[in-house]
Formats: sequence, C-alpha cells, structure tokens
Amino acid sequence: MANATPLMSQYQAIKSKYPDCLLFFRLGDFYELFGDDAKKAAKELDIVLTSRGAGKEQKVPMCGVPYHAVENYLNRLLEKGYKVAICEQLEEAKPGKGIVKRDVVRVVTPGTILNAAYLDQANNNYILSLCHKQDHIGCAWSDISTGEFQVTQFSVTTQSGHLVDLVNRLQPAECIYKRGQFSFFQSMLGNCWGYRNMIPTEVDQETSIEIIEKQFGQDNLIGLDRRSLGEGLAAAATLLGYLQQTQKTEQLPFRKITVFTPENYMYLDAMTIRNLELFTTLWEGKKEGSLIWALDRTLTAMGKRLLRNWLELPLQDISAIKERQDSVEELSADLLLRQDLRDYLDKIYDLERITGRVDWLVANPRDLTALADSLAVIPVITDILNQMTSDHLKGLGGSLDPIDELKELINRGIIENPPVNPKNGGVIKNGYHPEVDKFRKMIDEGEAWIKNLEAEERSRTGIKSLKIGFNKVFGYYIEITKPNLHLVPDNYIRKQTLTQGERFITPELKEQEALFLGATDRLQELEYQLFIDIRSNAKEMSDRVRRNAHLIAQIDCLASFAETAACNNYVRPKINNEGMTSIKNGRHPILDQLLTEGSFVPNSLHIGEADNRIHILTGPNMAGKSTYMRQMATLILMAQCGSFIPAEEAEIGIADRVFVRAGAMDDLGKGQSTFMMEMNEVSYIIHHATKDSFIVLDEIGRGTGTFDGLGIAWAIVEYLHDQIGCRAIFATHYHQLTQLADEFKGVVNYSVAVAEKGNNIIFLHKVVPGGTDKSYGIQVARLANLPSMVVERAREVADMMEADGKSAEPKKPDIPAAVQLVLFDDKSVIIQELQNLNLIQMTPLEALNILSGWQQRL
Ligand code: ADP
Repeated sequence: MANATPLMSQYQAIKSKYPDCLLFFRLGDFYELFGDDAKKAAKELDIVLTSRGAGKEQKVPMCGVPYHAVENYLNRLLEKGYKVAICEQLEEAKPGKGIVKRDVVRVVTPGTILNAAYLDQANNNYILSLCHKQDHIGCAWSDISTGEFQVTQFSVTTQSGHLVDLVNRLQPAECIYKRGQFSFFQSMLGNCWGYRNMIPTEVDQETSIEIIEKQFGQDNLIGLDRRSLGEGLAAAATLLGYLQQTQKTEQLPFRKITVFTPENYMYLDAMTIRNLELFTTLWEGKKEGSLIWALDRTLTAMGKRLLRNWLELPLQDISAIKERQDSVEELSADLLLRQDLRDYLDKIYDLERITGRVDWLVANPRDLTALADSLAVIPVITDILNQMTSDHLKGLGGSLDPIDELKELINRGIIENPPVNPKNGGVIKNGYHPEVDKFRKMIDEGEAWIKNLEAEERSRTGIKSLKIGFNKVFGYYIEITKPNLHLVPDNYIRKQTLTQGERFITPELKEQEALFLGATDRLQELEYQLFIDIRSNAKEMSDRVRRNAHLIAQIDCLASFAETAACNNYVRPKINNEGMTSIKNGRHPILDQLLTEGSFVPNSLHIGEADNRIHILTGPNMAGKSTYMRQMATLILMAQCGSFIPAEEAEIGIADRVFVRAGAMDDLGKGQSTFMMEMNEVSYIIHHATKDSFIVLDEIGRGTGTFDGLGIAWAIVEYLHDQIGCRAIFATHYHQLTQLADEFKGVVNYSVAVAEKGNNIIFLHKVVPGGTDKSYGIQVARLANLPSMVVERAREVADMMEADGKSAEPKKPDIPAAVQLVLFDDKSVIIQELQNLNLIQMTPLEALNILSGWQQRL
C-alpha cells in the first residue's frame, strides 16, 4: 500500500511472512486483524467489522478481540481449520519513541494446541508430516501436548493401504508435506482430507536430518535403521522444522523418537475398525454403542487415550498378551483391592499433558498443584500393587517414581487452590521466600494504616460518613458527602467532584499509597519469578513425570479391563499360535450390555483346524448372521488386547489381521458403484490376507446378477481355502454355496436357526451346524408390516417360480394375473393386518392413524 502509515507498514511487513495465517496484531489491549484477515475473522467469530485509516485517504477493514479473551476466539478459529499467528508488542509503548517493536511470538495451528480447555482428553491431538520419494512414503507424527513423537515408512507399491489406515487411526488435526506433493497425497488419501478439519500445510524449507540428531541426541538414535527409514526421517525432520518455526523455539521438548512397526500388532484396516464399531457406531457415528464405550472403565485421561491405542493396536506376541491377562485376572478377582486402586487412580490428573505444558513453559500454578496432588497418590498405588502376585502389576507399581522432591517443592512453594494466572500474585505460600513475606507484611501494614487513617480522620474532622476508597485512576482517596464539605480540613486536596460529594487526597495518604502499591507490584513480580523457578524445576524432572504417566495409563487400562470383566462376567481366553479358535457361548460385548439382561442369545465358534477353516453361514435376513460374525471378530480382537471376553470358555488363535467386510455400503462420495467398491475390498483382502488372518465376509457378491454373484462368491471361498488357508466366516444368501462343503475339506456349513409358526417365523439367533436352503424372505417381509396383499401375492409368485423348475434366474413366470383385490370389500385383509400389528412397539398416534385408515376403507 503506497503512503501507508508507519503502523500499517509494520503490519504489512509482518503479515507478508505469514500469508497462510490470520495475523493477530497486538495494539494495546486488543489483537487487531486487518484486510482480508479481518473480513474472514469477523464472519467466523461473528464480531463487528470496522475500518481504520491506513494512509492517505485509505481505509482498511479491521476487527479486533480483547487480549484477555483471546484463547476463546483462537479456539473457534482453530476448530474451523485456521492457523493464527500471534504478533505481540515486544517493548513498552513510550511517548515520543515512535512505534513499538512487534513480532510474531507463536503460530497456533490445529495440530499444535496446548491449552487443556480445547483438547479432548480422551483423544490425542496429532500433527502428521508426510514425505514422498520414489517408492516410499515417510510419516512422522506427534502429539505435542503429550510429547509423543513417532516415525514410520511405507512402500507405495506393496503397502498402499497403510497410509489411509494410519490417517484414519491418528485422525490428525493437521498434515504437513513438502510443496508440490499435495496432489500425490490427495490421490493416496482420497476423502480422508475431510477428517476433523485435517488441514493441509505445505512447507518449503529443506530440513536436514541433523535436526533429528540435535533434537534427540546420538544415544537415542542408536538402533534406528537410518537406511531403511530414510523417508520417515525426512518427514520427522520436516515436522521438527515446522514446530520450531511455529513455536518460535529451537528447543523442542521431545526426548524420544519411537519407530512404529505395524508388524508387531494385529493389523486393522480402516474399514474393519469401522465395521467393528471400535470407536463409533456404523450408522450414527456415535461413541455410545461402540466397543470402546462398552469396555472403557478407565479413570485417568492418559488411561483413556491408551485404551484407545490398545484397541487400535492389538498385540500378536503371546507373552505380552499373557502379561496383561495375568494382571486382569488378579485385579478382576479381588474386588476390594481393585476398588481401592481405582479410587486412587481417580485422583490422578492428566500428568501427560501437564508435563507437556511444563515442557512448553505454559503450565499455570494450578497445573503444578495438580501435578503435586497426583504425585502424592503414587506411593499408595505402589503399595497396593505390591500386594499383588502378578509380576507385571508388581513391576508397574515398582517402577512408579513418587518424585518426592518435586512434590515437596510444589507443596512448599504454591498455595492450595492457586489462581490460574501466575502474574497477579496470590500464588506463593507464606514462609517460602523471605522477600515475599516482607512485601506481604508491608502491604498488610499499609492496609491497616489506611483503615486506621479512616478512624483518625473521622474523629479529627467530626465527619461520621468519611470514607477511604480506592480506584484505578486516582488511587486512594477520602470521600466526603456534600452536607459535610464545610468541615473539610485545609490539608485536603480536592481531586474529583461527584453528585453526592467530593473526593480528596492528602500528601501523607499518597506517600503511603506509593509504598503500598510499589510493594504490591514488586510482590507480583517476585511471585511470578518464583513460580517460573518452580516450573523450571518441574521441567528438569519431566522425563520422570512422563514415565509415571505412562505407567499409570497402563495400570488404569488393566484395572479397566478387570472392572469390565468382573461387572459383565467375562472369562480369560487361552491364547495359541496355531490359529485354533474355540469360543463357547460367546456374547457380543456391545449388545450384551445394550440388550436387557439375558435376552442376548450366546453362540459358539470352533474354527481353525485343517477340516474346519471356512464357515459358510446361511440363514434368513435378520436372523443374526452379521451380529454373529462381528461378535467373533471382536472377541478375537479383544483377546489380543489382553482383555477378557464375554464367553463361558474360550481359546483364541492369534490373528495377524482381522478383516471385516459387510456387503456393499453406498459411499456416494467416492463415485464408485457399490459393486465395484465391494470388489475392490475383496481384492484388497485377497492381496493382504495370510494363513494367520481371520476374515469375515458378509454377503459379498450380492451386488450383481445372481449367477455372477454366485460365481464370484464361490471363487473367493475357493481361493481363501486353497491359496491362503486363513480362517473365514462367509455369510451368504446363495444357498448353493453350501455345496462348497462337499468339495473342500476345510469348508463347513452353519446356519442361524429359525422356528416356523404357521406362516410366521421366530428368530432364535442360534448358530447351528448345517446349511439351510430356505430364505424366509416372505416371512421377513410380513414381519416388516408389508401389506398382506403384497405378502400373499409374493408367496403366490414365489411358489409358481419354484414349481417352474427351481430356477435361480428369475424369468417371467407364467402366472395368472392376481385377482384385483378390492380393499373396500375385503374385510379379511384388515383382520389380517390387525393380527400382524405389533402393539407393544406402536405409539398411540400410530395406532390412531391406522384406525383412521381402516375406517376410511370400510
Ligand atoms: P442378519 O445379518 O442375519 O440380517 P443381524 O445380525 O443384522 O441379522 O441381526 C438382526 C437383529 O437381531 C439385530 O437387531 C440384533 O439385535 C438381533 N440379534 C442378532 N443376534 C442376536 C443374538 N445372538 N441374540 C439376540 N439378538 C440378536
């Protein structure tokens, strides 16, 4: 802008360095936004857009937010996916000194939030960095609020799904990548970009690997295979560079870099996580009704986050699973100890994020007292765990570190229930520092002197209503009401006239005030400095606190598994590496809790031997096929997390992957036909499954013509059986597939039993050996309250077709036209409808509507 005012020139110079951020420009008590930034912010925050003179006859749009309320506005902008650069005044404004120095002190982005109020305590808040070169995608991610920093690398050709699965698992709030790579990642990630406002950020700078060595130190990098992790480390370097730039510090508080190796865990792809409803329900996307909802009894924030992590990454190593199981077994058996342990866990604050804030130097006094209160509980938890026999629990308890010196320092230094803001005093305890005590004494004496002065002046002047007051503009004053003004002594100096009286000062009052206010200021400064010192001490010990946080999270998760197991009657599954899986009377963990007690019908599964590897499951719609299959996949997953499972007895063969696919789900956004999607999914499974995988396929192949579908379903089962040798349950409508059992040794037929009662069927929800060749479609239609006219007609047509050669391909049957039913005359239709009404589920209004419909037809 030509002829810009000096202030606007300064603004523009700073803004040009942060083109993709909204710039919050500090002007006195406000952060102001200008130009396009102001227009955007005014709209998003619903605040008034004004303008400001910016030079010769020029005006720029402007809006502002008060500095003390900035966090709230920031959060609203972050939620909408904006990045904000905070520009502060770096020196005091002094008259005649020209404009003050300003610069950006931090850039706040959705992936770099530290304020506890805006972080979801049950979930991590990740920032992900991606880097692509030749056949490799490097990934590095961090939750800067907890200090986690991980890295991994995938091959584009052989592990193409890994990136999508990782992004779905982490649900990062922000994703950074090198300029020019957006279209590549967009094609890989498809509509994942829409996730949680995951904002893409392009970075320009080349960051060298040395930044990693500097950050983590050579010692921590021993064992890191740099050759096979080249792109992963490049992504990590970019992430560190970006964080240094946004947080305006070279000293990032990360101590440990962890290499993520998917092979160590049961691999769950995004579709399986979704189909098993691990974290949200399939259709409504709610947490209520998901697996984590059914299992989570954790009491600490870090326990909650770790439980999610355990469910996302079930184990494959039997000894690690057994370690968890031993702990759960002991804790679930001992109600009193468990309750005791859980009572104390409940007293522990979010140590992980408090340490994060200590590390980033943003922890407030309340964070520190919460830290001390949490540390105080630690020895009690160690004591409780010491009474256990499980080595794992004992080990966890024994590794806890009470860090007494830190707890004592905080307790000695900081008052109970301190204010959040450390700058206004009232933070440091009496007796902690002699200067603090001295200033406090001076202030107390000053206050007493003023109180005393009020009494003295009343008796000296004889004015009973004389009052000493204080305001920010005049400081201390003596207030005299109008009728008493004639009594005012000579040494009073008039300062302010009010309607009901006047305010005065005296030289000695001002003298005392200077002492008093000087002491208050110095006290506040000193208290702040002492607080900072205590916080620095805490920072020195943050590794120890973070280790505690991780141990507490594990103890909390194990206690949660134990509590869930004890409350819901779960058993400890045996675990083997041979794939043999046998579950006696298992229940679906979610429905088991949702349905009224005893109404869920338990089912068994025996699978995994040479003659029993693939189950073909038939049965009518609504019989419970899908529930049964998901239940079994869920139970295997839970067992590999170390949890007990809802069953009478169980033995689980470790699965390297669980795949759960449920027919074609319309995903309109992708613009693919549902059948095409289904085939893509199956192709993915066929390329990735191994003999150790457990596969659940629910009515795959139904999206095309009958013979095509049948052929595809047959070929898939044949391939899984002969080429892969995995365990699989295949639910199908094609009864013809039951013939597979005659052809292949490992294929066995099962069906869900139903009982027939006249024209109706009753779902028994019981899976029994053997196939079925009846689909009961017409009975299900009747249950769905289809008009009996339609149901009867359907039966007629079906019978004719069956008689006509049992053809699977529907040809136009030679069926006499149905007699045109005249509704008005046919009262029996109404009677039948009446018989079929489900009165229990009907609202009075629905009943009234039906009644009125009948009345019109009669
Ligand atoms: P399908 O896949 O055969 O069409 P679903 O598995 O979707 O059937 O189950 C249909 C309904 O039956 C569900 O609403 C579920 O609540 C209920 N259900 C399924 N299995 C059981 C069971 N074992 N016990 C009680 N209710 C069940």
